[in-house]
Amino acid sequence: MNCSEYRANYAEFDKFPLPREVWDTPEWTAWIDHFHQCNECADWDLAQRVIKRGYDPQSFPCVHIADQITQTCDQHPDPHDCPDVLIVYAPRFDEYAIPIRDGGPSVVCIRFCPWCGVQLPESKSTRWFEELELLGYDDPFLQDIPEEYLTDQWYKNST
Ligand SMILES: [Zn+2]
Ligand SMILES: [Zn+2]
Ligand SMILES: [Zn+2]
Repeated sequence: MNCSEYRANYAEFDKFPLPREVWDTPEWTAWIDHFHQCNECADWDLAQRVIKRGYDPQSFPCVHIADQITQTCDQHPDPHDCPDVLIVYAPRFDEYAIPIRDGGPSVVCIRFCPWCGVQLPESKSTRWFEELELLGYDDPFLQDIPEEYLTDQWYKNST
């Protein structure tokens, strides 16, 4: 099976649950073998998932980050709590990080995608604290800070 055959079969073979008469065939076996052997189709597959969730994969640094950031879990509304989530994104800091699940909400920032190595934006957390301090907020996690600092608006609005 080649890449275009793999992609042409995607709609039929990616269903869940998959009927036995589909997964019990040599066509399906060849299809899933291609998925495991072809990085390009594995990435393409991730992009389809992101699109299905209603996001544009192009608006993320790469498709791996897009898949991580857009996945949701019924059991864990906070992605920090979900063991399936490997990368979290903090819009207010423009920061990608690996959550550390030792009881507290701590993270380790990352500068590159662990899967493809694409460079990620540098965390703006230092600037976030500095700007808020200038505005008179010396303990922004406990204080009632301006709303734009709770999202990415504070740096998107400034030049
Ligand atoms: Zn392929
Ligand atoms: Zn979960
Ligand atoms: Zn990547």
